[in-house]
Amino acid sequence: MQIVEARCTHCELTAVLPSIPDFVIDDNGKYIPLKYPGERQILEDVLGEGYDPKSLAERLVTYIPVACAACKTQFGLDIKKEAPQCSTCDSEDIYIITQYIEKTCPLCKEGVIKSTVL
Ligand SMILES: [Zn+2]
Ligand SMILES: [Zn+2]
Repeated sequence: MQIVEARCTHCELTAVLPSIPDFVIDDNGKYIPLKYPGERQILEDVLGEGYDPKSLAERLVTYIPVACAACKTQFGLDIKKEAPQCSTCDSEDIYIITQYIEKTCPLCKEGVIKSTVL
């Protein structure tokens, strides 16, 4: 798997890609952290052996690296399950960093987001 780092040429904005699932949700709605390697064992423990791969997507929580333009905070957001809102300042001016590779940085509006293979 190729790991790519996206970084602004001007400000502190950075993100590492691809995003891999951080948690699996168990039957009680609890978030169980996934560890790599070893995630398969955790998935079997939580979902049961021979779990349905189709239902898996709904159980996985992947935090996508996002940045808030209002307070310049970077954080992870599960865009499938959470509203795009800043956890620090409640702003909805949220940018998915990976959508800005080779484009003007949404935070500082001066740099360009460049990607490097790690
Ligand atoms: Zn920037
Ligand atoms: Zn904010």
